[in-house]
Amino acid sequence: MKPIHIKNFTLEQLEEWVRALGEKPFRARQLYRHLYARNVSDWSQCTDLSRSFLSRLESEASIDALTVSRVDEARDGTRKYLFGLRDGNFIESVLISDPPRCTLCVSSQAGCALGCKFCLTGSMGFKRNLETAEIVDQVCQALRDPELGPKINSLVFMGMGEPLANYDQVLRALHIITDPDGLMFSHRRVTLSTVGLAPQVRRLGTETAVNLAISIHAPNDALRDELMPINRTYPLSELMGACREYPLQARKRITFEYILLDGVNDSPAQAKELVRLLHGVRAKINLIAFNPHPGSIYRTPPQEKILGFQEVLRKANLTAIIRKSRGSEIGAACGQLAAKLMNEVGH
Ligand code: SF4
Repeated sequence: MKPIHIKNFTLEQLEEWVRALGEKPFRARQLYRHLYARNVSDWSQCTDLSRSFLSRLESEASIDALTVSRVDEARDGTRKYLFGLRDGNFIESVLISDPPRCTLCVSSQAGCALGCKFCLTGSMGFKRNLETAEIVDQVCQALRDPELGPKINSLVFMGMGEPLANYDQVLRALHIITDPDGLMFSHRRVTLSTVGLAPQVRRLGTETAVNLAISIHAPNDALRDELMPINRTYPLSELMGACREYPLQARKRITFEYILLDGVNDSPAQAKELVRLLHGVRAKINLIAFNPHPGSIYRTPPQEKILGFQEVLRKANLTAIIRKSRGSEIGAACGQLAAKLMNEVGH
């Protein structure tokens, strides 16, 4: 097995590594271009590198950190990639085509330790953090999809895992993804979604300009403590403090994701509480009707309750959009396919 996942390196680290191999530093930039601008899958495609350098690369470094284990497609065109990791774990990425948008949803951990009650990934437990290469490679591999790859124009870190619990690897991946010499995504087209690790939210605002989304899901601490155990560590006062101070660029807003669970968090009174909670934050709200999965204790609210909740927010002059649940028959809600496969292979 080749020891090095080359996509773990930033350009600077690649320069150091190339120099240690006795090559000129400019070779690093050449390699970087092959890996990202050209998205090569085999060293033999790098025809401008010397034969001796290529044979070192062949024996010491692998280009791809993931193998495609399965691709499922839903009737609505949502596509789900199940990727195998070198240690036998699985992760997944979901590609949602909704023209003109074509969005890839990326995972940051295999499993998740945070145990949100409504989430299938949470019920799988935590396997491990993904390496930078395993995060970046989800994008590289999806970009190679002959049909949808060239159309991918936005990324969301909303797949398996909590990205801010794997901060350093995710940050390095964000740099490669948004680097004009790397995968060239604009910051405006990349969104990181978090359950709200307040100290890391503050740090993120100083270290990247990507969009921030907060999975809020409850308007008060009592309910949020119950649905999302992380709230006991970072209660809403602390999280909202970090959001209020978040250095937003002009015309940007923080997105608040709110999964509506029937009879749990979907009443008009709770919508009013949410309005009060978001006071003073440049916010928009995505309302998502819960997508039930086997074994879940929650149900999807009836449409009139969803509309009623939205109406309260709109009357308070908040932008509140009802998002469609996509790809439900292929288990496109976070972690569903990988969870099934991990059970099948006995992880
Ligand atoms: S919602 Fe996100 S943070 Fe919560 S358990 Fe699922 S993957 Fe983890």
